[in-house]
Amino acid sequence: MLAHLCAGFSPNNQSGRTAGTRVMFDAVIIEKNDGQQTASFRQVAQDQLPAGDVLVIVEWSTLNYKDALAITGKGPIVKSWPMVPGVDFSGTVVESRSSDFQPGDKVLLNGWGVGEKHWGGLAGLAQVNAEWLIALPTAFSTRQAMILGTAGYTAMLCVMALEKADVRPADGPVLVTGASGGVGSIAVMLLSELGYATVAVTGRMAEKDYLESLGASRVIGRDLFTQKTRPLEKAEWAGAIDVVGGQVLASVCAAIRQRGAVAACGLAGSMDLPLTVAPFILRGVSLLGIDSALCPREQRIRAWDRLAGLIDVTRLEDVVSEYPLSQAIEAAHALMDGKTRGRILINVAG
Ligand code: NDP
Repeated sequence: MLAHLCAGFSPNNQSGRTAGTRVMFDAVIIEKNDGQQTASFRQVAQDQLPAGDVLVIVEWSTLNYKDALAITGKGPIVKSWPMVPGVDFSGTVVESRSSDFQPGDKVLLNGWGVGEKHWGGLAGLAQVNAEWLIALPTAFSTRQAMILGTAGYTAMLCVMALEKADVRPADGPVLVTGASGGVGSIAVMLLSELGYATVAVTGRMAEKDYLESLGASRVIGRDLFTQKTRPLEKAEWAGAIDVVGGQVLASVCAAIRQRGAVAACGLAGSMDLPLTVAPFILRGVSLLGIDSALCPREQRIRAWDRLAGLIDVTRLEDVVSEYPLSQAIEAAHALMDGKTRGRILINVAG
């Protein structure tokens, strides 16, 4: 089956060419030699793929903050060498030893240590465990699923966590920090779609119109949250989704209303959390941790189903930058240098 599908690849498609009897495909590879980490774009043989019971032709991947850290070596993301980065991908099953998937099925994957401990999505082929994959929701093409990618899926998990903590639209306004980033902008869309008065917090007030177009009822500056606060501030917000961490998360927690909740998923500002227990013990505030990578399968399927019902992906097209796989390394450096905006889509199948 693989040979058949590979033989059917267009000559322009760099993935899946054969050298002799070995199937070769293009990949971004991160290697470590003599303590030095390097990333390169080159051909890899199929027999080098890690073990897994489903083989997928990757069509689209994305570049997440974590991928950029891995590729540039600026963060300790990679746990085994050599590594193909890419914490998410969408594509088509070519071979399967699992009864859950058949050749031709459209699938997507987020997390599970893929791109960190197990070869990931920045390659023409991926071999993974069946339980890591979910069927592509019919509402999305493989490209649209990756426009949302791990950022959209994480934003949905954050919203679901707030709902589970009983934060309702009638309870009052909900904050989203890092609002113009990937997770933040989709969180703004989701909350406003669900009827929450959504207040976007950003360090880039130039993005005010964009954030309002996504549904923010108000856009406020990040600087309101960057100074040390009293243990409890005026209780203004029914809930929050935070991607920033550090003082921003601490300031947000101090201003949450009685029995409100904060879904914390990121550390774009800092890993620290300089706060007191006052919001938790005096206002009953809940701090909800979000770990998209190891989230149970049933919950991730529910998250993708809800995304399919709530999101009009075409509204995100304006903030998508698309790169071929051959330019993923350059894109990772641009992301780390703060020179990119919105969602970075990697066209693997080209
Ligand atoms: P992006 O880089 O797209 O967005 C992050 C946003 O945070 C920026 O757009 C900016 O928003 C704000 N920001 C950036 N730097 C700082 C800073 N120094 N201080 C305060 N705010 C800052 O990243 P993503 O949205 O993809 O991811 C956001 C975070 O969530 C990351 O830390 C990522 O690792 C994490 N994450 C966690 C997941 C999980 O499972 N827990 C899954 C996915 C992501 P603005 O300019 O609007 O202020």
